[in-house]
Amino acid sequence: MASDEKPVCRGDWHPRDSSRSVPSRLIVRDGQVRAIADDGAELASAVFSKLDISPRVGSIPRRIEFADGTLFETTDNTAIDALQSANGGGRAGFIHGLERFHPRLLAFVAAVFLLSGLVYRYALPVLVEVAVAVTPPVVPRLMSLSTLETLDRTVLGETKLDDAKRKAISDGFARIAANSARGPSAYTLNFREGGAIGPNAFALPDGTLIITDELVGLSDGDTEMLVGVLAHEIGHVELEHSLRQIYRAAGMAGLIMLIAGDVGDSVEDLLVQGGGLLALSYSRDAEAAADRHSVELMQKAGYDPTAIARFFEIIENKLGDTSATNILSTHPGTPGRRKAILDYEAELRGKPAGN
Ligand SMILES: [Zn+2]
Repeated sequence: MASDEKPVCRGDWHPRDSSRSVPSRLIVRDGQVRAIADDGAELASAVFSKLDISPRVGSIPRRIEFADGTLFETTDNTAIDALQSANGGGRAGFIHGLERFHPRLLAFVAAVFLLSGLVYRYALPVLVEVAVAVTPPVVPRLMSLSTLETLDRTVLGETKLDDAKRKAISDGFARIAANSARGPSAYTLNFREGGAIGPNAFALPDGTLIITDELVGLSDGDTEMLVGVLAHEIGHVELEHSLRQIYRAAGMAGLIMLIAGDVGDSVEDLLVQGGGLLALSYSRDAEAAADRHSVELMQKAGYDPTAIARFFEIIENKLGDTSATNILSTHPGTPGRRKAILDYEAELRGKPAGN
């Protein structure tokens, strides 16, 4: 063995266009890669750059093709990798492999994400609208019933407001409900002690509204302001915000299931338990739309259209933006909302009568 001879590995050499196989070894000598038979005869040789080496794919044997068309085949992947990197071919081989094998996987992953993105962006909103449109009234009624039952069992308590106070709020509520698009029979107002949810008012999708004693307590006797808040909640019902939220969450869960094959417990809980309705907070756009609805409805009922703006003033002053269990957590985005309400009212006033 010459001093500059480097063994590479053992394998089988095949003559060109022949299935005959000659047990042999691959070596590097004098700058050439050579296939040497066990009897010492040289079967083929070439400089490294003239070799065509098949990429590494699992444990499939590597094929090294010489310029004369003969083949050396070996299962010693590691030796071939070492030969390639010793000749500066490791990097090329890596890129070669990447080009040949990863694009399919990358393209598949990209396609899944693109498809999900398209479904989320274009199909989901349409599906949500369709689902809202075809939902029979019994569905929101059942959802609402089970939600109120759950809340009564867990957080809400019996109201401690006196009859006079309740009557004043109920009368105001009847006035705006009478002016609502769905009419007075579509809405019922319930008084409860808020417990863990504190000062709050919310609407269930079937038009069941709940106002807590704590919120009434915050109002300092400003009943008109409370009616403004209830008008905002009627807005959420008429614009079907909570149904949309539920369907969007269900659609998202479906997408997550498609991609990950599983949904987290919390998403599942959200979908199967009515109580999850409360965990859904509305988007900023939905809140702004409900605010404008309050302005319009209060104006129709002959109240101060901007009464709900006083409510935002109070929660800014009395509660701050930090409490996690107050109305802010289900009604996010107060900064700027008060101004938007006043602007909208001014805009309505500025319009010619009849518009
Ligand atoms: Zn709201």
